[in-house]
Amino acid sequence: MKWWVSMPKIELHAHLNGSIRDSTLLELARALGEKGVIVFSDVEHVIMKNDRSLGEVFKLFDLIHILTTDHKTVTRITKEVVEDFASENVVYIELRTTPKKNDSIGMSKHSYMEAVVEGLRAVTAVDIDFGPHKFNTQDSLNSIAMNDACDGTKRKKIYVRLLLSIDRRETTEAAIETVKLALEMRDLGVVGIDLSGNPVVGEWKTFLPALKFAQEQGLYITLHCGEVPNRQEVQPMLDFLPQRIGHAIFFEEEEWRQLKTSKIPVEICLTSNIKTESISSIDIHHFVDLYSAKHPLVLCTDDAGVFSTSLSNEYKLASTAFGLGKREMFELARNGIECIFAGDEVKQDLVETFDSAAKKLN
Ligand code: 5GP
Repeated sequence: MKWWVSMPKIELHAHLNGSIRDSTLLELARALGEKGVIVFSDVEHVIMKNDRSLGEVFKLFDLIHILTTDHKTVTRITKEVVEDFASENVVYIELRTTPKKNDSIGMSKHSYMEAVVEGLRAVTAVDIDFGPHKFNTQDSLNSIAMNDACDGTKRKKIYVRLLLSIDRRETTEAAIETVKLALEMRDLGVVGIDLSGNPVVGEWKTFLPALKFAQEQGLYITLHCGEVPNRQEVQPMLDFLPQRIGHAIFFEEEEWRQLKTSKIPVEICLTSNIKTESISSIDIHHFVDLYSAKHPLVLCTDDAGVFSTSLSNEYKLASTAFGLGKREMFELARNGIECIFAGDEVKQDLVETFDSAAKKLN
């Protein structure tokens, strides 16, 4: 097995509905096609298309949401996504999703999230700890040893924590509703709030009251920041001092300085940035500058399904593109522990997992 697959990894920027297997999406589309809800031949090529601009990605999400937004499907995709990440030795994931309301099928934001948690409960292929459901010590020790073996056949274990996303199309009230839901679901593994959705839609001031409320209540916050040029937003977002930001592409000189001084960790999504043409070529990706400055960074997938990637693939890509060896990539992955939104006990367990994997790194 290649080292980028076998080494333990931490995923901190993965959107649930962006991480669905193509095969599942096609199966769901075919079923809705048979019911006459959609025309399958119209959507097949949209699902299979590989390179999409950022605008096309958001059109695809509208289609994906038609296919997936019922309780049973939400549960299914959550289970599959977690098992897929675990299968490539992701040992800790923060999975983010936008709680959705769909009155026509009796779905509230709350019941959507219950369906997600049901998906976590349904995970059977690996050992899972998602807050209320914890590894017990004996299992934990056994699982660590098995994880280190990394031969793809033994039982793996994964920590899962949830982030609730506020979609930039939402109103202040809807965003506050999401934060309240996150607070209610804290003991079900919800640890924080994400701001995402089409970056050319909505204004920072609409979401600020909800984000401030979340911050006051002690939820962790990560913001999609600088995905498109927007001088009105980047600086206020950095001033807000979120615990992490995603992407950080379109920054001015002064904003890079502020980011580096603040040491806010950045979730880097290489394939996503290249495929959406937010960055024209990987050689000029800001990863290089931030990595050289020893700024806290985590490699992430963003939307493993939509961009046909995996976290292992992101590590391989960074290694090849930036000339980093196996040990440097291992250190990069391990440094991600400091950026997670979980407590010291989980961090300590992850340190042990990485330490024991390090012994086998040759
Ligand atoms: P969901 O929240 O439905 O589980 O995952 C899909 C949603 O995540 C999209 O509708 C969008 O709001 C958000 N999302 C996924 N990928 C991106 C991205 O690259 N940029 C931004 N800003 N939002 C994204």
